[in-house]
Amino acid sequence: MNDLQLATSRTWAEINLDELEHNINILRRQLTPGTKFLGVVKANAYGHGMIECARKLQASGADWLAVATVPEGAELRRNGITLPILCLGQTMPEFCGMISDYDITQAVGDIDNGRKLSDIAQTIGKKINIHVKIDTGMSRTGFYWPSDDAGKNRTAREINELCGLPGLNAEGIFTHFAIADDDPEFTRSQLAKILEAKEYLRRLGRTFAVTHAAASVGVLNYPAAHLDMGRFGLVLYGYASTDNGNEGSTLDLHPVMTVKSRITAVRKLPAGTTISYGRTYTLKRDSLVAVLPMGYADGLPRTLSNNFSVKIHDTLCPVLGRVCMDMTMADVTDVSGVKAGDVATIFDGELIPIAAKNTGTIIHEIVCKPSQRVPRVFIDGGKLRA
Ligand SMILES: *Cc1c(COP(=O)(O)O)cnc(C)c1O
Repeated sequence: MNDLQLATSRTWAEINLDELEHNINILRRQLTPGTKFLGVVKANAYGHGMIECARKLQASGADWLAVATVPEGAELRRNGITLPILCLGQTMPEFCGMISDYDITQAVGDIDNGRKLSDIAQTIGKKINIHVKIDTGMSRTGFYWPSDDAGKNRTAREINELCGLPGLNAEGIFTHFAIADDDPEFTRSQLAKILEAKEYLRRLGRTFAVTHAAASVGVLNYPAAHLDMGRFGLVLYGYASTDNGNEGSTLDLHPVMTVKSRITAVRKLPAGTTISYGRTYTLKRDSLVAVLPMGYADGLPRTLSNNFSVKIHDTLCPVLGRVCMDMTMADVTDVSGVKAGDVATIFDGELIPIAAKNTGTIIHEIVCKPSQRVPRVFIDGGKLRA
């Protein structure tokens, strides 16, 4: 067996890098000219394979990449990525050496964290690049931007002190929107706050090479929020909207991930037979049941038990009974000629939004699901490879 045969013998995810490139090209045109393009590849590129997606972004003219953790950034560097890498997550000071060794730009959202990072950077004789994070309403990380003038002045002085620490080089300032898919009033107030913070710092003589605010939906909905850079996550992977809007639905984005599974067996079972753990489904007629080698340990949520359909020979086949750890059953009674070894499509551009809806979550969570046990194979230049 070659690598590709091995990877596609059970359950795998096909990642279409040609579609990723198509999406990058479409999204670049959405940005105000002169604005930088950041591709978010955290969490294994939302389940799509971080290294391959980062290489495609780099080859397609992205200006920056972003990760959530310093080890993710280090892995990119070890695999030949030379673009600037922003670590969005808060980082323990102990990672300072790694930040420096792998030339990662670190988000810093409070003075204590900044001081510790600066101290360690100084002891190793280095300066690390940082982007200052401002909390304008997400209430996650960042310097809280208050509403009173005294508070604003105090916060600006603290940020200015951070930026002047000897182990740090403050190159950027940014924030993150909480509800860019809805509530324009709140989003505009967040935008106003980051611009105000920047202005208060300018009055203290502190300027930044790059200011940014908008992630996928923010870029599509708020051109005024493009500032110096747009941070593209979910849209890169082919989905324009999160859960409640149709943001950017006029854009011709193409889903990048398809999860496939090779049918283990097709079984003839009589009416009245119960299927899987807990006997939650009883066959209403004599049936053909396909056994799929994909379960919740592979990333098929157990809450899709009796609540989802997969595609077999282009026909929707309902999931029967509970999703198990490693296997799932589907009804193929009405599909002719199905046999062991045939390929079922578990997730694609149509099924992923349905899986999200049926499990009460967002597309982001579903595409992150395929586990380490699910090999990623890549379509690149029209060819499939491991
Ligand atoms: C994850 C993340 C993004 C990307 O978000 P999408 O909605 O997927 O575009 C951008 N910025 C920050 C700070 C993030 O944490």
